[in-house]
Amino acid sequence: MLEVRSFAKRYESRGTVTEAVRDVSFSVEQGELLCVVGPSGCGKSTLLRSVAGLDRPTSGEILVNGTPVTEPPENMGVVFQDYSRSLLPWMTVSRNVRLPLDYKVADAGERQAATLRALEAVGLAGFADHYPWQLSGGMQQRVAIARALAVNPTLLLMDEPFASVDAQTRAELEDLLLQVWQEFGMTIVLVTHDIDESVYLGDRVLVLSRPPSTVATVVPVRLPRPRNQLDTKHDSLFADLRTEVLSAIGAHGQSAPAAH
Ligand code: ADP
Repeated sequence: MLEVRSFAKRYESRGTVTEAVRDVSFSVEQGELLCVVGPSGCGKSTLLRSVAGLDRPTSGEILVNGTPVTEPPENMGVVFQDYSRSLLPWMTVSRNVRLPLDYKVADAGERQAATLRALEAVGLAGFADHYPWQLSGGMQQRVAIARALAVNPTLLLMDEPFASVDAQTRAELEDLLLQVWQEFGMTIVLVTHDIDESVYLGDRVLVLSRPPSTVATVVPVRLPRPRNQLDTKHDSLFADLRTEVLSAIGAHGQSAPAAH
């Protein structure tokens, strides 16, 4: 459903050119959960923004269901790390979640039903009339996820979605994501710097090299589903996969030591 072909991105500002991504190609199957990892600055966010139609590749092509992405695709949801900037503090939780539907769905009853379903999916139906600032960080990120779910996305893009919460909440949100992925059946591309998270969640882990980045490797994750924090992370295969991803980042992710 998603195809990235020879994606390259250079940024130019004040005469300085940064080659962030040199050549990245991969495809994602319908219903797949792909995690993207790589060293800081290798262009993970750049890639995700371009798939979201919020940025353009310098060269190469991105296709969603065979159509080149030139603007944010229909039925796409996006969740960023910084929930405090993505939620509108003067709107209640349900208004925040309903927001994208106001532009897409004419029927008020339908909007209401989709909002409620999304809030129920993230366990926040009882907080519809609260304001974001009345909720914990983890709950606010659940609201952001609910807003992405409200449009019933076929493609969900997530950029470090759990990086701003504590470890316990992070584990809960990872499991919540796996649950809503099962329920809604969408395709997910999730960027993370957390190797364990990428293995725990993903069907495959795409490892990018240091910038200017290429694909270092793609690691298939053959861990059984449903996964859970205790059994999955104690599976010896989990440790093997983790090592495989880490060594791919090690081999392709470390700059040569600087001369002194
Ligand atoms: P990652 O998400 O892997 O940490 P980014 O995609 O954020 O990497 O950034 C990749 C590289 O591109 C970095 O060197 C970053 O400084 C640069 N970059 C990202 N966005 C811009 C921009 N809007 N203008 C100039 N340089 C940018």
